Amino acid sequence: MIKINTSHILPDTPYLLDGTESAEILELPPDADPPLAPAGDITYHLSAVMAGADLIVTGRASVSLATVCARCLDNIRVTIAVKDLCFHFEKVRDLEVDLTDDVREELLLAVPSCFYCSPDCQGICPMCGTNLNHGACSCDRSQAESEPDDAAPSPWDQLDALKLAPEKPVKKTTAKKPAAKKKTRE
Ligand SMILES: [Zn+2]
Ligand SMILES: [Zn+2]
Repeated sequence: MIKINTSHILPDTPYLLDGTESAEILELPPDADPPLAPAGDITYHLSAVMAGADLIVTGRASVSLATVCARCLDNIRVTIAVKDLCFHFEKVRDLEVDLTDDVREELLLAVPSCFYCSPDCQGICPMCGTNLNHGACSCDRSQAESEPDDAAPSPWDQLDALKLAPEKPVKKTTAKKPAAKKKTRE
């Protein structure tokens, strides 16, 4: 638990609270997608001051998590860090204030929806499944890479197709892409 007893906070002097807390308090769901598991303790550095009977806590917290890269599916460790924590508790003079849930919530909010092993991850070969970060494969991907539109129809093509034959006159007309027009008639 991350707790501050406000009776320990001296006037005009920030009360510093540094420590670690088990990442189990995050209660990460076991079936998360991408998978998320604690890879270390939560570390926090907090500074607390009293403003009258109110408590103001600022600081930062971080935790290391184990997950997988969204492009190449390699197991990776990522650090979730919140640098601008700020909590305000009213009328808590001479009370013990529990910050655990507040820190937990801020860390969970900072978890992105996907992770990458590096910004320039090469991903896996769509043809043979080789992790292209570890080495090249012998597949000829030149066709798929040079004509991605033909390889996989984009949702925009379907939108354009819908607009091709309006039953009623529409006030707003959207310029149609010649390429999309040709494709839907084939
Ligand atoms: Zn990757
Ligand atoms: Zn390949």
